[in-house]
Amino acid sequence: MPIRTDAAYARALDAADPLAKYRARFVMADPDLIYLDGNSLGRLPVAAQQLAVDVVTRQWGQQLIRSWNEGWFDAPARIGAKIAGLIGAQPDEVIVADATSINLFKLAVAALRHRRERRRILTDDLNFPSDLYILQGAIDLLERGHVLRVLQSPDGIHGPVEALATELAGGLADDVALVTLSHTVFKSGYTYDMAAVTRQVHAAGALTLWDLSHSVGAVPIDLNAAGADLAIGCTYKYLNGGPGAPAFLYVRRNLQERLLNPISGWWGQPAPFQFGLDYQPAQGMQRFLTGTAPITSLLMIEPGVDLLLEAGMDALRSKSIQQSEYLIGLWEAWLAPLGYRLNSPRDPAWRGSHISLGHEEGLRIDLALIRDLGVLPDFRSPDNIRLGIAPIYTTYADIHTAAARMQQVVADQLYVRYPAEKPAVT
Ligand SMILES: *Cc1c(COP(=O)(O)O)cnc(C)c1O
Repeated sequence: MPIRTDAAYARALDAADPLAKYRARFVMADPDLIYLDGNSLGRLPVAAQQLAVDVVTRQWGQQLIRSWNEGWFDAPARIGAKIAGLIGAQPDEVIVADATSINLFKLAVAALRHRRERRRILTDDLNFPSDLYILQGAIDLLERGHVLRVLQSPDGIHGPVEALATELAGGLADDVALVTLSHTVFKSGYTYDMAAVTRQVHAAGALTLWDLSHSVGAVPIDLNAAGADLAIGCTYKYLNGGPGAPAFLYVRRNLQERLLNPISGWWGQPAPFQFGLDYQPAQGMQRFLTGTAPITSLLMIEPGVDLLLEAGMDALRSKSIQQSEYLIGLWEAWLAPLGYRLNSPRDPAWRGSHISLGHEEGLRIDLALIRDLGVLPDFRSPDNIRLGIAPIYTTYADIHTAAARMQQVVADQLYVRYPAEKPAVT
């Protein structure tokens, strides 16, 4: 059914949106900015802005070292327990530490050592490149002849589910140690069926390691129900934790005592302040910590997570689907005739919360939108304009205006004035 393309319809959808009130909980420094990059860097929660002042002036400025015992030392586990509520995990199965890439390294090495008789690692070519680099580095370091199989997506949009099933049922299945995938992939937004893949992986006797960076806070996830073994994820995207805020990791409870952190540091010891000279792994998730947490940035994660817990993942997901379907409706009406292609799955059941639209002039369109048209998406080569929908603050009016300007930029050839060269960060 064609959608209504008039602005009044967008305003009516906003007026009927039960989550609309959450937008005011974020800092809107420029109320006219159409921000569609919450899947890369989430907005600043008002509560985080206030907390930052308290952390710097009181907690650090006045309390100094005393703050370690007043909410700093236990922050990795406390905030991890809250994130657990967003991803279907138990509070003691998640902890916050380090960057996503580093957590992937720790858990991949731990898993490969645990499944030491097996040599194969499966992933796909839609995965985040850093994940592949980390796996390549881990293989070099372990020097045990591991083979990284990068399965090819059939179309650059959907996950290679058939190739994966074939690998996991084929003659080499009992050599597979680890299957690691982005749950929602960063370019097309394709989302795997976590439970179905995990079942196949377990049938082959291997472990799963899910990168939740583009899912957490946008898509309901149930790690426990899926029987997932390991997961990692980012906090500065849909969790709104702030630029470079530390990441989280999840280890299924009955695996925790069987895996060891390869970066064994004092924060992963049972009692760091006893300063024993021999490393002992702590019980539970604490063993996956390494060194002192980046407290000022770690603490900033909590307000954004609290907001998502308050709004509820199911409500957020239903708004995200409604908004992404609305955007696709506008694409069909306005943008497809101008050469924009849908580079995301058409069926919302297989999508996260961002939509990629391809165009031959994608980069120049992106630059025109950002520099002069007040719309902030991002760009992923070769031609993807990524439009991130963060249902906790994105409005239907934002989506309507963004689509109208994307139409204008091509219809009026506004993009021709922009260079086809990429800035360092897109
Ligand atoms: C954003 C993202 C990361 C980020 O990794 P960092 O170590 O924080 O730079 C990793 N994986 C995926 C899938 C991502 O989307």
